[in-house]
Amino acid sequence: MFKEIKRKITLFNTIILIIFMFMFIFLLGFLVNWSLNLSGEIYLTNVAKEIIQKNSDSDVGFIGPIDSVHDKFGYQYIQWDSSHTVKTMKVEDRNLVKLGYELLIGEQPAQEFSAVFSDNLEYRVYTVPFSNNDNDYVLQVFQQVSTERSIITNVISFLLLIGIGSILVLIPISYFLAGKSLLPIKETFENQKKFIADASHELRTPLTVIQTNIEVLKLKEDEQIKDNMKWLNNIASESETMAKLISDLLLLAQAENQRLVLEKEVFDLSSMCTLLVGLMAEIANEKGIELSENILPGVQYRGDEERLKQAARILLDNAIKYTPTGGKVQLCLSQGKRNLVIEVKDTGIGLTEEEKAKVFSRFYRVDDARNRETGGVGLGLNIADFIVKKHGGKIKIESVANKGSTFSILLPRPNLKQDTKKNNHKIDTIT
Ligand code: ADP
Repeated sequence: MFKEIKRKITLFNTIILIIFMFMFIFLLGFLVNWSLNLSGEIYLTNVAKEIIQKNSDSDVGFIGPIDSVHDKFGYQYIQWDSSHTVKTMKVEDRNLVKLGYELLIGEQPAQEFSAVFSDNLEYRVYTVPFSNNDNDYVLQVFQQVSTERSIITNVISFLLLIGIGSILVLIPISYFLAGKSLLPIKETFENQKKFIADASHELRTPLTVIQTNIEVLKLKEDEQIKDNMKWLNNIASESETMAKLISDLLLLAQAENQRLVLEKEVFDLSSMCTLLVGLMAEIANEKGIELSENILPGVQYRGDEERLKQAARILLDNAIKYTPTGGKVQLCLSQGKRNLVIEVKDTGIGLTEEEKAKVFSRFYRVDDARNRETGGVGLGLNIADFIVKKHGGKIKIESVANKGSTFSILLPRPNLKQDTKKNNHKIDTIT
C-alpha cells in the first residue's frame, strides 16, 4: 500500500515538475524572441531614419553608404520610386530585390515590419514610405535574422536537454524523499495496526472465558444458582477485566487523538497519597504484604488530581502485584529542589535492564502467562507514563532483578504563587 502511495507521489511530483519546466522554457523562449524582435525592429527603424536623412540631404536622391555604427551589423536596403523602380539599393543577396518587389506590389498593403525567406535565410523587413523633392519613395530595409533564430532554437534545445536530464535525476530523488516523508505515517499506521491486534487479542481472552462459563452454566440449568457461584464469579471477574481494559483503551485512544484534557487545580498531594495507601491497604494485607508510607505532609500541587491518583495507583498496584507474600511495599512523598517525588518501593521480583527499557510499551508484560493471572494486560505503565508526561514530569525506574524496584514519579515543582492567583485557592503551605 505504501509503495503504491510512494509511486503516486513521485508521479505527481514528476508531472508538476514537467509542467513547470515546459512553462519556464516556453516563457523564456517567448521573452528571448520578443526582446530580439524588439531590438531588431529598433535597429531597422534607426537605419531607415539615417537613410532617409541622407536622402533628403542629397538633391539627386542618391544615397551613399552610411558610415555609421549600423554598418557593422550588416543591413541591406532598397529604395523604390513611385513607379516601383529601384532608385537606389545596397543588397548582397540579389534575391531580395524580387522579394522586396513582391512585398511592394502584394495584394495586402505592405506591413511596417514583415519577414521574407531567401535560400532558407530569414530576413526581417522594415517598409517605410517617404518623400523627397516632391517625389514619393518607399524604403525597404532588410536584416538577416537566421542567426537570431538559431540562437533561440539552441537555447531552447539546451534548456530542454537540461530539463529532461534534471527530471531523470529528480525521479529517483523524489521517490526516495517520498519514502522518507511517509516514514512517520507508516510508523503510526503500523503502531495502530499492532495496537488493534493486541487490543483484540486481550479482549478475546476474557470473552472466551465468559463464553465457556456460560456454556457450563447452560448444562446446569436444573441446578440452583448458589451451587454454581464459581462459574458466575468467573464471569464477573472476567467482565471486570474487560471493563477495565475497555476504559484503558478509551483513555489511550483519547490520548492518541489529543482529546484527553486535564482538569488542573491546586490540590493536596499529601492527602491524595495518604488516601491511596488507605485504599490499597486491604489488598496488600490480603496478600500478606507490609504496606507502609512516608509522606511529607501539606504538599500542594497543581494538576489533575484524579489522573495523578490513577498514575500513582498503577505503580502501587504493580508493586503489590509483583511482590511475593511476605514482601514490603512503601509509598513516599518528598520534595527535591526542582521536583516533587512520589516513590513506590517494593521488595518484589524486580526487573532486568532489558525489561526496564520495555515496560512502558503498550501490552508489554515481562512474563506473559504469569502476569495475565494477575489481571494485567500491559497497559498500566503506558497510561501512568502518559499522565505524568502530560504534567511535565517523568517516571524513573530503579530496579534489581529478584530484589525489588523503585518507581518514582517526578513532578516539576509548581510556582504556586501564580497558580494560587489563577485558582483563587488558599494555600497553607508553599512548597
Ligand atoms: P500490567 O497491567 O501487566 O501490570 P503494566 O504496564 O503496569 O502492565 O506493567 C508492565 C509490566 O511491567 C508488567 O507486566 C510487569 O511484568 C512489569 N512490572 C511493572 N511493575 C513492576 C514491579 N513493581 N516489579 C516488577 N515488575 C513490574
